Amino acid sequence: MENNASKYDRLREEMVRKQIEARGVSDPLVLAAFRKVPRHRFVSEALMDQSYGDHPLPIGEQQTISQPYIVAEMTQALQLNKDDRVLEIGTGSGYQAAILAEIVFRVYTIERIHTLLVQARRLFDTLRYHNIVTRYSDGTTGWTDESPFDAIIVTAGAPRIPQALINQLAMGGRMILPVGDQHSQELIKLVRDETGIRQSNLGGCRFVKLIGEQGWNGR
Ligand code: SAH
Repeated sequence: MENNASKYDRLREEMVRKQIEARGVSDPLVLAAFRKVPRHRFVSEALMDQSYGDHPLPIGEQQTISQPYIVAEMTQALQLNKDDRVLEIGTGSGYQAAILAEIVFRVYTIERIHTLLVQARRLFDTLRYHNIVTRYSDGTTGWTDESPFDAIIVTAGAPRIPQALINQLAMGGRMILPVGDQHSQELIKLVRDETGIRQSNLGGCRFVKLIGEQGWNGR
């Protein structure tokens, strides 16, 4: 019988080929990260066998770990370099942060639900992601003390682009975030260059709500 470790290795390789490479993600750093991060460890034990499927999954507190492809698409759109410092808003399970941590020098990630942050931080320790720095707060105002960032990724849907995050983007910096109403959003990419901020639209998506001072109201 196939043991669990080799089963998950096989499911992970299949996920990378069929869901990520086949749909056009080609950045070698991104593909290598997806081949490495054990996605099944970021969900509850009951959901491990489904964790490499082509869909999001619940992680508790009415939040979700995103579909693998959307994580890959957003990561590739950040155009990461090895020495980048990246800010993520919405730690959730920690999966996206771990993918980023495989690629860049340091990841700063903020989560507003304490139990999720504690779980994710424990997992980062277990899996030895020592280059992930976590913070329990409202991420819509960013992380001023550690700014500017080479890349910023928001993994919850915002009603509008938080100005605080734009302000914390370094020269040449890239930001990806879903913007729209509560049911559907557009994936927006911003790039800061000498002439200012350039904005493009990468297409439709669906995320849970970004809740906070520069996001949605709510608890
Ligand atoms: N990146 C996550 C996806 C998490 S879902 C992963 O890989 O699993 C979105 C997360 O954003 C939720 O955990 C939610 O609590 C969090 N969130 C929503 N608004 C936030 C805010 N203002 N600041 C920080 N986290 C926020």
